[in-house]
Amino acid sequence: MLEVSELETGYGETRVIHGLSLNAVPGRMLAILGRNGAGKTTTLKAIMGLLPAAGGDIRFQGKSLVGTAPYDIAKHGIAYVPETRDIFPSLTVRENLMLAARMAPRDATWTLERVFEFFPRLGERLNNGGNQLSGGEQQMLAIGRALLMNPKLLILDEPTEGLAPIIVRQIHDKLAALKEDGMTMILVEQNFGFATSLADEVVIVGRGRSVWEGLSADIRADTDTQHKWLGV
Ligand code: ATP
Repeated sequence: MLEVSELETGYGETRVIHGLSLNAVPGRMLAILGRNGAGKTTTLKAIMGLLPAAGGDIRFQGKSLVGTAPYDIAKHGIAYVPETRDIFPSLTVRENLMLAARMAPRDATWTLERVFEFFPRLGERLNNGGNQLSGGEQQMLAIGRALLMNPKLLILDEPTEGLAPIIVRQIHDKLAALKEDGMTMILVEQNFGFATSLADEVVIVGRGRSVWEGLSADIRADTDTQHKWLGV
């Protein structure tokens, strides 16, 4: 569904990614793993058109996204939940969700009602401001907002960061349910156990390149690669 080949990108003159390839397959979850600063978030920003591709290609359902504006990439059906979650702190939960619901296609399968069924906690916090939510609630809101866009591909950047173990387990179960429902996902994670228990495939980013790719089960069994590239 999404094919990144030999991507090169970075910030201004600084090249951070030099030759990264990955492939997200319909109905499956791909985890992007790597040490701090390896370039995982930078890769996601390039996919979303927030950073220019200086080389290589990014193809979504066969068409190149290179040079496409972030808004149009979202309209093509890629939703991005950034590490910073980026919810509007001064708007209520309802208002945050309404903004996304306006962008939903007419034949939307993810409606506000379905998001509240999926995350009952959001329904209970409807009139609370974004700045009054716990970290876990903010993450649910960020994911709920992405789902309202009815994406074909959902990209999540470190959804467990800063969350208590019990909330991490809840997010794990929600992502497993989305997978069960057939959602195609890309997950960036520092939490190796979390990522490999959910993902079908894994790509490891090291020094701005894809250095290993394979099945989750294979990387779980491959402690040498874990030590070398992940410091697990
Ligand atoms: P983390 O898990 O720490 O978020 P990451 O793998 O997502 O790590 P990136 O955030 O993609 O890593 O960062 C890759 C490199 O790009 C790092 O060396 C970082 O210092 C650099 N970098 C990140 N953001 C910027 C920026 N806005 N300007 C310049 N360099 C940046």
